[in-house]
Amino acid sequence: MLFPVFYQIPDFVQRLYRGIVWRKVVENKKVAYLTFDDGPVPEVTPTVLDILKQYGAKATFFMVGENAVKHPDLLERIRQEGHAVGNHTYNHIKGWQLTTAQYMKNIRKADEVLHTTLFRPPYGRMKHSEKKALLQSGYSIYYWDVLTHDYNKQYSSEKIVAIVKRFTRNGSIITFHDSIKSKDSMLKALPQVIQFLQQEGYELITL
Ligand SMILES: [Zn+2]
Repeated sequence: MLFPVFYQIPDFVQRLYRGIVWRKVVENKKVAYLTFDDGPVPEVTPTVLDILKQYGAKATFFMVGENAVKHPDLLERIRQEGHAVGNHTYNHIKGWQLTTAQYMKNIRKADEVLHTTLFRPPYGRMKHSEKKALLQSGYSIYYWDVLTHDYNKQYSSEKIVAIVKRFTRNGSIITFHDSIKSKDSMLKALPQVIQFLQQEGYELITL
């Protein structure tokens, strides 16, 4: 049994958060967005890229700056293969425990390597003042429409596939993690997820 509220953010909640993108509909096109948080890491990201390439799908990687610094080859490969890069802070910090100035400084440090205006806050949480500062600095802030819970060890690949099948709609931003925690179930689910979405007529594009 899948309870919608855990997997799809209700429209009324999405409307409450001004300035945040949860879903991105494109005129005259059926699209969905695969997004991967917390990488890049050599144990997982290259396999994600191989799978995306095999199916001709594009994705957006919300990277932890520190990981991109450690693995510049992966950052380069992601760019080379036509995917988008997003900022997920320099070291996955909790905005609500910091001042806005500290938060922005950390994001700017990540930007020195990532060079992007796409941003997603770790844990999907930050202070209102931080959101405002990001928007004023020209960042687009992306949350998600579909949450796969792929980082949760209790979630099998079958369950992840079932969540995507049931909750994806036109313009959905779907969240995965290219992290060691999600590796097993996510990598197993990913080809099935892409096959399903493409059969349903979704074009998988970057944010
Ligand atoms: Zn994260």
